[in-house]
Amino acid sequence: MICSACGLRQLHPTMMRPVRAFAAAFALAVLAGCSSNTASAAAATPKALVAPCTTGSGGQLQLTNIYVLPASFDPSAENNYVPPSAVATPLANADIMNSLTLAFNAASQPLKRDLCGLSGIFVTSAGCANGSDGNACIPGTPRTAFGQSWGYREHPPQVMSNFGKYIGISGALWPSGKPANTPILTTYESNLLYSLFNWPTGTNGDPNPPAYTSTDTAHNTSTFSIIAALAHETGHVLWYVNFRPTAGGNFNFAAFCGGTFYFESWRHVDSPPRWRTFGDTQSVPNLFHETDPNRGYTVGNIYTALAQGDYAGAKRGLHNILRHEQHWASPLSVFSPDEDFVETYTLKALAGAGLTSLSLLNDDVIGTYPNKATLNRKLGCFPS
Ligand SMILES: [Zn+2]
Repeated sequence: MICSACGLRQLHPTMMRPVRAFAAAFALAVLAGCSSNTASAAAATPKALVAPCTTGSGGQLQLTNIYVLPASFDPSAENNYVPPSAVATPLANADIMNSLTLAFNAASQPLKRDLCGLSGIFVTSAGCANGSDGNACIPGTPRTAFGQSWGYREHPPQVMSNFGKYIGISGALWPSGKPANTPILTTYESNLLYSLFNWPTGTNGDPNPPAYTSTDTAHNTSTFSIIAALAHETGHVLWYVNFRPTAGGNFNFAAFCGGTFYFESWRHVDSPPRWRTFGDTQSVPNLFHETDPNRGYTVGNIYTALAQGDYAGAKRGLHNILRHEQHWASPLSVFSPDEDFVETYTLKALAGAGLTSLSLLNDDVIGTYPNKATLNRKLGCFPS
């Protein structure tokens, strides 16, 4: 999943590591998309999007309008930005609509409200191979599902007013357009982890790569994978709504939860790049722990261990992120303050929908979080 709010992609020096090949490839794809968008920008005619939700007769929120975006759509464009309304088409695949509706109906009430507060929800076609689109996406590679989803709020100069809040979920989450091909939650989360660290899972890689497990079989479903994807990208929109109240204006890291959200977890919160690519780290990633920055679980340590084939060391790093006294919702949380907010929000959404178990290396993130004081406090910043 790529992320964030605004246009111009900024590649940090940390992204030059070999593990960033995936992200770098995507960045190139986006740049290519920019040039094609340039030609179509003048001709594109913005039209109104129908809001994603309606309210039923009993007052219940219903998901009713989803759109598909072409592969050429570039949410990170600036002066040549084409709003999604100009190029979106209604989702034609009824099976995907049904799949999204099932996820929406199973979602927590706060997530429903947040989804319905968006200006548009899209299935993206970027990364779909052979010209396929979001209605029947043939994933370019098994991992593109996570690289082609995003959430952002428009900002100047994309538009100068009425800043839209959008999320796009990769069509690769429904390979060939079939919900039966959507991975269940633990598979989805494991693949996300492998993509994040470029964990070698092939023949010459880690013979026993870490994998998410869950004892909650009733909720360890593809529906919960979709809830996780929807929540994550919505979280990126909410990050900007909360920490940059005026689109394009100043950041205010004290604006959310009385300014307490980050204080035990991050020594310093940098203003993020305009586009936080999946796997991108804050520019000073080793300063993320206020009280004990040297616990051996920096992102760099895990990458180094993997590069050396020290899979046990890399797993120790993961364990150190999720062990019982820690306060992180997931390994991705430690990459940047915005991902920390987003992953905490996602964990709250999964738990709020009823998930009771999600473990990595025997560290059950959900089952133990009531005993994790800081994580529990951070989760308490979001409505139940
Ligand atoms: Zn993200």
